[in-house]
Amino acid sequence: MSELADPSPRDLPPAVDGAVGHVAPDADTAAGEHDASMERIVELCKRRGLIFPSSEIYGGLRGAWDFGPLGVALKDNVKAAWKRSMVQLRDDVVPLDASILMHPRVWEASGHVAGFTDPLVECRSCNQRFRADHLEPNAAGEVVCPNCSGREFTEPKAFNLMFRTFVGPTEDTSSLVWMRPETAQGMFVDFAHVQLTSRQKVPFGIAQVGKSFRNEITPRNFIFRVREFEQMEMEFFVRPGTDEQWHDYWIAQRWQWYVDLGMRPGNLRIRDHAKQELSHYSKATVDVEYRFPFAWSELEGIANRTDFDLRQHSEFSGKDLSYYDAERDERYLPYVIEPAAGVDRTMLAFLVDAYREEQAPTAKGGTDKRVVLRLHHALAPVKVAVLPLSRNAALVPTARRLNDLLKPRFDTQYDDAGAIGRRYRRQDEVGTPFCVTVDFQTVESDDAVTVRDRDTMTQERVGLDRVPDYLSERLRLSSR
Ligand code: ATP
Repeated sequence: MSELADPSPRDLPPAVDGAVGHVAPDADTAAGEHDASMERIVELCKRRGLIFPSSEIYGGLRGAWDFGPLGVALKDNVKAAWKRSMVQLRDDVVPLDASILMHPRVWEASGHVAGFTDPLVECRSCNQRFRADHLEPNAAGEVVCPNCSGREFTEPKAFNLMFRTFVGPTEDTSSLVWMRPETAQGMFVDFAHVQLTSRQKVPFGIAQVGKSFRNEITPRNFIFRVREFEQMEMEFFVRPGTDEQWHDYWIAQRWQWYVDLGMRPGNLRIRDHAKQELSHYSKATVDVEYRFPFAWSELEGIANRTDFDLRQHSEFSGKDLSYYDAERDERYLPYVIEPAAGVDRTMLAFLVDAYREEQAPTAKGGTDKRVVLRLHHALAPVKVAVLPLSRNAALVPTARRLNDLLKPRFDTQYDDAGAIGRRYRRQDEVGTPFCVTVDFQTVESDDAVTVRDRDTMTQERVGLDRVPDYLSERLRLSSR
């Protein structure tokens, strides 16, 4: 890289302010204090159909979860917010949707066939397998089996985390393919094609959201560590020598994304990787960590991958993946800065962060516990609930008409089951920002409805014809 001339301003990122809180690699991992325990979150997600065990009627499958209607909406909103910030609002990042099954040589070049392994030990009493680095000694310094309390384990053995399958009718080495364990390799092998056809110039990025698969030995903590998950990854190709500035830039950008979507900064931190922790391709990596109820844990890794991947794929494929910089009349293999986030973990962090248990006034003048998800409006699965006071025939046509009017503009839910107070609580606990109630006054006298705000619980009377604009003015449907 030293033979390249000095960078020009076009090669470099805009200045970033230094407000991002870095911590040392060995920072304390103590769990956070939240209104929510993991049990409460899991229970709420199941009860309201957001997330529940996969194939549950057969007893479930460990490390696999299904997302029900509201879970789909929340997950889609997380992905949409990421795409908006990483692609839509930028001129220098383009999207890609690469295939999950790729040529097997991809994974040899990337190092995954040889190196994507975890050390595995087996309990000699119950034969359950665990990641050796996940078994912590207890206060007496002994390592105890979490399943049966056995104390004897086999020696650690390497275990490849990639799922294997076969293409076509024969099952031999010539038909072996891998389920991708990260989306990143799609961006590397398609780099030249995307750069050429999108007419992007370095520095620029390729972004992708999609499923990845890892045969995790110990899936745990609900959707935090699972075997099938989604990733939101972006490979940003830069001129060698400018990589460190771009790394800092992307760390600041990604930090801001979480904060703009309402995550409490005190529950977020940037942890630098120690030298011995770095992946084989990395010059420097940080993790964006969230203070979960179980421990500070990674939401996203932001790595300086150098030119490792493009170099490997050039070598293994025999295709030159270097970039010709016409303005500077230079040819080089770009360096890559990679912010790589998990959709499922991010969604879990937003759920935990938004969960509150509060005392709310009741109609009879007392107080009652209410559970509320104070989700950013952009993330809330339902934006507006339309609630007729009762199923009385005088109210239904107006409530239905209002629902039809709002539906094209916002994600709405029509709910007419049960007492109105109970329906407010139901909407609070899935984070619906506004409830609109149609009552007898609406149809008999004032042509207005009551709009209730999730966070303040204040109620305002709004003319029926003003409701769509009233909601548009108040709903923040994007973070920026
Ligand atoms: P970990 O150390 O927790 O296993 P990792 O460092 O191997 O994660 P990366 O390879 O950097 O993870 O993947 C990028 C992101 O993908 C992670 O930050 C995480 O959000 C998500 N991710 C990785 N593995 C899983 C998994 N098994 N379940 C859910 N999300 C995952």
